[in-house]
Amino acid sequence: MDIRFEQVGFTYQPHTPFEQRALYDINLTIKEGSYTALVGHTGSGKSTFLQHLNALVKPTKGTVNIGDRVITPETDNKNLKPIRQQVGIVFQFPEAQLFEETVAKDIAFGPKNFGRSEVEIKAITKEVIELVGLDESYLERSPFELSGGQMRRVAIAGVLAMEPSVLVLDEPTAGLDPKGREDMMNMFNRLHEEKNMTIVLVTHLMDDVADFADYVVVLEKGTIIKQGSPREVFNDVDWLEAKHLGVPTATRFANELVKKGFVFEHLPLTTEEL
Ligand code: ADP
Repeated sequence: MDIRFEQVGFTYQPHTPFEQRALYDINLTIKEGSYTALVGHTGSGKSTFLQHLNALVKPTKGTVNIGDRVITPETDNKNLKPIRQQVGIVFQFPEAQLFEETVAKDIAFGPKNFGRSEVEIKAITKEVIELVGLDESYLERSPFELSGGQMRRVAIAGVLAMEPSVLVLDEPTAGLDPKGREDMMNMFNRLHEEKNMTIVLVTHLMDDVADFADYVVVLEKGTIIKQGSPREVFNDVDWLEAKHLGVPTATRFANELVKKGFVFEHLPLTTEEL
């Protein structure tokens, strides 16, 4: 399932004194099976963009096509539920939303709401707890007695239990230690490679972009200023003027790509300038 944005704009509280435009004329296709990294400063529109991916918000202008569903400003909210199942969003610090008394109940919450049977839910729960690198011994425990990293895994298992084909991750490794970050990024990579899940990752970690993404989108002030393969996007950067990414970040990213064998036509900054 592709997700296609056509001339999408979004304004918070339109036609009020608090009106705030967050997205302008977004044109972009998230291809089925791709791994897209979304980068941009705070306030550039990343989280507003993410909420369009499963129709949590509707565009105030333009069209979002999610598979064969067409979302426009006029779309009736009643028809949107199936999309929430197909596109799972893991928001920042998802563990804050755990609330059930056991891990099993927390994971079952989504599928139960979608009418899955007890037998189906049991099988799904067993599968997803293992997908996130835990095992069945966690299922009867309280989520609140787990470590922060384990709680986050449980929260992600709850999203996976909906069996989405697209997984959207907003800074999923924020606050984890280096080992926790590495394990979690490898877990998403396995979901991408083995389950052919489409991944959309918001990150400011350029190493992760270099290691995993096959498409990069750079947002700035509500507009896409660049999109393409990592090589295309970063070959194109005016390195000395790399304000949008922040020069140190851009330089570090370029170095990552060079290590991975990318050849730049115009090499970023000289070593003295680093
Ligand atoms: P990011 O995720 O990149 O930090 P956001 O999508 O949160 O960016 O914000 C984009 C713009 O929309 C910012 O100018 C922000 O202040 C504004 N914005 C975000 N959420 C709201 C809201 N609920 N009401 C009004 N303005 C908002």
